[in-house]
Amino acid sequence: MRIIFLGPNGAGKGTQAAIVAQDFGIHHISTGELLRQERKDKTDRGQKAQSYIDKGSLVPDSIVLDIVKEQLTKKEATPGWILDGFPRNVAQVGALDKLLKDLGQPSCDCVINFDVPDSVLVQRLRKRAIKENRTDDTPEVIRRRIQIFQEETAPLINLYSEWLLLETINGFMSKEAVTSAIKEVLSEIKNPTKS
Ligand code: AMP
Repeated sequence: MRIIFLGPNGAGKGTQAAIVAQDFGIHHISTGELLRQERKDKTDRGQKAQSYIDKGSLVPDSIVLDIVKEQLTKKEATPGWILDGFPRNVAQVGALDKLLKDLGQPSCDCVINFDVPDSVLVQRLRKRAIKENRTDDTPEVIRRRIQIFQEETAPLINLYSEWLLLETINGFMSKEAVTSAIKEVLSEIKNPTKS
């Protein structure tokens, strides 16, 4: 099973991706987590990405694609994957398609879109800033990331909807209710004959 999780920061993608990946035995690929790890390890890619992450801007596509390619070719990705936080702009959608073709992998089965009101996102991100001490959870950077989502990532909702891959989930529910909603959507993909 190959799934993309689409949604703004604070929508719950990371939490849900970890649960679903574990339950389905597929590889969880969070580009944000991987970039933060590379920054911590002071790798070449991590150092190049640092200033973008701290400003709340998108890291250049070439760096992110390099990371995604590495992850998609891992053994853990053979049964399937969840891409959490990628693609994040139209160019990355095209690059992912090309990458999967080049790797001889099928394209994704489904895009889960997490729908959460902005006011709830800001509240959640402020709480996370205190809990996780992330450098990119300051009020100014949070605003910038919401703006980037609206400008660069939100157009992907229409695009994937036109490709009939989009399933929208109400992300403003309890963690357990969101997990159930996602699993219901995914069970229909696994059993397409079920009405
Ligand atoms: P996240 O943990 O998904 O909120 O990502 C944290 C930061 O990593 C983002 O604000 C971006 O700077 C960077 N990032 C993560 N995924 C991508 C991506 N697909 N394209 C560009 N930058 C990304």
